Amino acid sequence: MAGGAIRRTRFAPSPTGLLHLGHAFAAGVAAAQADAGEFLLRIEDIDRARCKPEFEAAIYQDLDWLGLQWQQPVMRQSDRMDAYRDALARLAEFSYPCRCKRGDIRAALSAPQEGALPAGPDGLIYPGTCRHRPLSDAAPDDVIRLDVARAFDALGQSRLEFRDEVMRPAEAFLMTRDKFLDQIGDIILSRRGMGTSYHLSVVVDDAAQGITLVTRGEDLFESTWIHVLLQQLLGYPTPLYHHHRLIRDAEGARLAKRDNARAIRTIRKAGAQPADIWRMVGLRPWDP
Ligand code: GLU
Repeated sequence: MAGGAIRRTRFAPSPTGLLHLGHAFAAGVAAAQADAGEFLLRIEDIDRARCKPEFEAAIYQDLDWLGLQWQQPVMRQSDRMDAYRDALARLAEFSYPCRCKRGDIRAALSAPQEGALPAGPDGLIYPGTCRHRPLSDAAPDDVIRLDVARAFDALGQSRLEFRDEVMRPAEAFLMTRDKFLDQIGDIILSRRGMGTSYHLSVVVDDAAQGITLVTRGEDLFESTWIHVLLQQLLGYPTPLYHHHRLIRDAEGARLAKRDNARAIRTIRKAGAQPADIWRMVGLRPWDP
């Protein structure tokens, strides 16, 4: 462990469906990497239209049945809108309102492009149509984007880095400003009608919870660059990362929440014990 510091991790599910084997694996990895008592749970429920209280209740029940223990109180993102508003205000000098709909972005991108449109971890690479607009011009249903070039200029640096203890323990991953602009672009800080975005919330909350090790699926690896940039702009430390493999079905596809056959409680109802679940995902039975 680097520097002998306490390792504090979190599992951050969204209550949009039942937890499945992939979640058991993600939660098990996070808990196993934490020092005693430093495993936190965060309910990522900013998407009010898709999140349901019964799924949140099922998260606690399933994790408890699996034998995991987490610190109280549990952080719930829907209680944190003031913190996201403050963070957005701190990013105001690098932000602009954007009224482009998906179709506008596609049309702007397809003019000079042939074939597939360029996309990154935050969707289509935004062509910058609204970049000149001042924040004072924001309409209620605009999104707020980060002007990434301006943000890098303000930081006075041309690259970002983070460390991942499993993917490349000996050496940091590096991202240049130009590559970020080209492969990720002006990301969304606040989605239409939401007041925040996944990226902004996760960065603000990892800092507020003092997370030192972010464990998450390798599908979120490219999003980590967005988080590192936001951490720098907001003056937060960059934690260590641990991007883990994904649990896949027999055809190699990643598990989805709508696939109830692999929901933990479906397997439980068929007679499985927690140790069976841990074995199914290739982890040692949990021994708190
Ligand atoms: N809430 C995200 C999910 O359900 C994970 C967030 C994270 O680990 O950064 O996949």
